[in-house]
Order: sequence, then structure tokens, then C-alpha cells
Amino acid sequence: MTYQELIASILSLQEEGIELFNAGKSVLGKNILATHLGDYSGTQILIQAGIHAREWITTLLLVEMVRNLYNNDLVKDGGIYFVFLTNPDGAQIELDGVDSLNCDITREYLTLANGGSTDFSQFKANVNLVDLNTNFDANWGGGSQNVFCPATEDFVGFYPESEREVQSLVNFTLKTRPLLTISYHSKGNVIYYGFENESEENIERDRNIGEALSATTNYPLIFTENSTGGYKDWCIDELRIPAYTIEVGADSIPHPVGVEYLPEIYNRNKDVPLVALQKANEFASSIDFMGRIVQNSSNGKVKVKSNGSGYLARLQSLYERRSANWSRNRKK
Ligand SMILES: [Zn+2]
Repeated sequence: MTYQELIASILSLQEEGIELFNAGKSVLGKNILATHLGDYSGTQILIQAGIHAREWITTLLLVEMVRNLYNNDLVKDGGIYFVFLTNPDGAQIELDGVDSLNCDITREYLTLANGGSTDFSQFKANVNLVDLNTNFDANWGGGSQNVFCPATEDFVGFYPESEREVQSLVNFTLKTRPLLTISYHSKGNVIYYGFENESEENIERDRNIGEALSATTNYPLIFTENSTGGYKDWCIDELRIPAYTIEVGADSIPHPVGVEYLPEIYNRNKDVPLVALQKANEFASSIDFMGRIVQNSSNGKVKVKSNGSGYLARLQSLYERRSANWSRNRKK
């Protein structure tokens, strides 16, 4: 697999009539490719993959999911956003090595962090050597694995949401307002749910939905311990929506998980998007996207829930906190 082949597999969906668009940009200016299936009104969910460089098998999984759902017209009662490859720069480094980058200093920076080796097959970070799934603003820097200096994995960044890929996914999520998110990672054959300080009520809701995901994949459902700064953590902590990390592929498989495992992984996960959308619909009344605006698909009218002012207040506090981070960093 080369980086070009990985991107070509996403782009091949266009030949089948599937429309792609950009969810944002990477540090090096690459497009973060996405698509949407189903209806733009009603319940929306979001599925993202490839946030860790060496886990691009999850990108291929999403491509297969989209192909099947689109060709069989399976998405009803809402819509599903797919973000295929949240970390395209990292995937390029992992697949093609640092010689594919056209900047000597960047190559040296990455090679130094890689212990002088030109083997980047275990690389997880982005081009700035930030582990993107630790860079979200959810108890940022509080994890036991976190490191505070650029590294091929586990570096949380110099401040939360410092990375363009993370900002892209945050902004895309705030814009699309999903009621549930799924993050695909490899590996471990397990589903993680929940986050520290989440309310008992929401944990119960998330467990119920997670059990349906566990039933369709046959992966065990595990409550998250000691995870901070991940996209799933941010969705739960900031947006108060159910969010899951699904780890595909057995632990015994070496990284990166090869394409030969894709059929088995696809078979176990192919129903996840529809089960997740169905459960999001079922629990829609108890999912409060910062006091979300509910779109009524039956008459096309937009109905603002009673706690709509709560949404505006929380959105404002979120933006204030983000701009405080921004100005704090600029002063350094
Ligand atoms: Zn991962």
C-alpha cells in the first residue's frame, strides 16, 4: 500500500456516483476527505477513521462501508457523515516514509524523533509529531501515557487543539451536529465507551447503545479508563453525546494491519453504521447536543428545543475557552 493507493481507494467512490467533500485540512494542506449518506434532515451521526497514521486499514474499512450502504440505498431515517482519513500527513509518512516529504528540516525532525530510523511503519502522529488523538480539549494532558515533547506517538501537543487536523474535526463536528460519533482505530477487537465525570444517566444511555454495537461486531464493550484528549472523549465531555472508539483487528496482528485482514474486519463491522444510526434515533430525545436544534423531517420545519439558550451559552463558553488557549499560546 502506498499513500497514493490509499487516497485512490477513497476517490474511487466518486466513480460510483458518491460525492466527496473536504471536512478540513491537514498541517501540510491536504484535504481531509469526507462524504455523507442519507438525508441531511433528521438524526445525523459521524464516523471517522485514520487519526493514527499506522491505522489506515480503518480508512479502507470506511470506503467499503460507504460503497455498500450507497449501492444498496440502505441509509434511511437520518444521515451519516464519514471522515475517511483524519490524519493524511501521518498516513503519507507511515506508508511512503519521510523521503516523500519535500523539506529537509521536516525530514530531519521526524527522523530524530524516530530514533534515527527511516522505518516509519509504527508511526502514529501527524507531521508535527503530535498524537492527534490526545490533542482534543478533554482533560487534555491528564493521561498516564501522555508525553510532553514531540514524539512518534503519545505527544499531546503544546496546547489543546493545537493541530490543524484536530481543529478541522472539531469545527466539522460543531457544524454537522451529530448525535453520536464513532472513531475507528486498530487494533484490539474491542469497543470503548464513556468518559470520566460523565453523568450516570449518560453512562447508562451510552452503555445501552454500546451493547448494540457490541452485539453486531461481537467485540466486547469496555468502559474507558484513563483516556484523555481523544476525539471520543471530547464528544462526550464537551458535546455530551454518545461516542465510541472501535478497535478493529486482533491484538496478535502486527502494525500496520494489512489489507488481507480487511474482509474479516469488514464482515464484523459492516452493520455498525446502520445500528449506530438506529440507536441514535431511538435515543434522540435523551441526547442533548449542547441543547441541539432538532430538525423535524416530517414537515421540514426546524424546531428549537426548550434548552436552546443553553446551547448558545455553552457554545459561547466553548469559543471563549478556545480563543483563550489561542491567545495564551501566542503570548509564549
Ligand atoms: Zn489508534
